Amino acid sequence: MLKFFQQFPEITALMSERTDGSMRYFEDGSEPQNVENRKVFFRKNGIESELVIVPDIVHGNHVITIDAESKRFQEKTDALVTSDKGIYLSVTVADCLPILFYDPIRGNIGIAHMGWRGALSGVVTETMSALIKLGSDARNVSVAIGPCIQKCHFEILKENAPLYKEYAEFVYYERAGSTQAVSGQGGKVYVDLPKIASKQLEQAGIPSENINASDVCTFCEKEKWFSYRRDKPEKVQAMVAVIGMR
Ligand SMILES: [Zn+2]
Repeated sequence: MLKFFQQFPEITALMSERTDGSMRYFEDGSEPQNVENRKVFFRKNGIESELVIVPDIVHGNHVITIDAESKRFQEKTDALVTSDKGIYLSVTVADCLPILFYDPIRGNIGIAHMGWRGALSGVVTETMSALIKLGSDARNVSVAIGPCIQKCHFEILKENAPLYKEYAEFVYYERAGSTQAVSGQGGKVYVDLPKIASKQLEQAGIPSENINASDVCTFCEKEKWFSYRRDKPEKVQAMVAVIGMR
């Protein structure tokens, strides 16, 4: 189990590991073992699973503001924010980025799931806008980005490289067996998603020193993390990241 925001003792912010089992929630009730895994993991960490909000993961940029009246399962969203204490926000990830937000001044938290579609549609920027609506000043917000697929393994199709034109500095073209930022060359093409997220967070006004991005690659560390790209399971196996204020 991995902890985030340890500088803030009033915050519980965690991510499960492969050994905790798959945490992907299926609303149709399939994969009951995952429901049990979630219960065990949350209980072990002092979280009531009934208090954990579960977003449907759809690779979009929609954000929902949660309060005590909100349903536990939130459809068609990849990001959640709240100003309520005692509510836990979660996302599941298996290569995509878990991005956790905390504003200690206004007491707001947020969480977002970001893959390449979310990177291009700005889910991070939308989450920051939702926090601003809750009264946050971006300068006070701290962000943690958890383990995810890194540029060593996030290969894209060459013809898709133009999609990332706003982030050309984070697109790497393989040459002579190494990945180098040399545009227009042949070979494989890789993208650095955490760098894109960090750039978007900074553009939203969050100071770079408040952004803490893990350099751990879920694809590289097979023993420790599920990786959708590496394992290609029939049903997604995923870690859960969760954040709540006490
Ligand atoms: Zn890797």
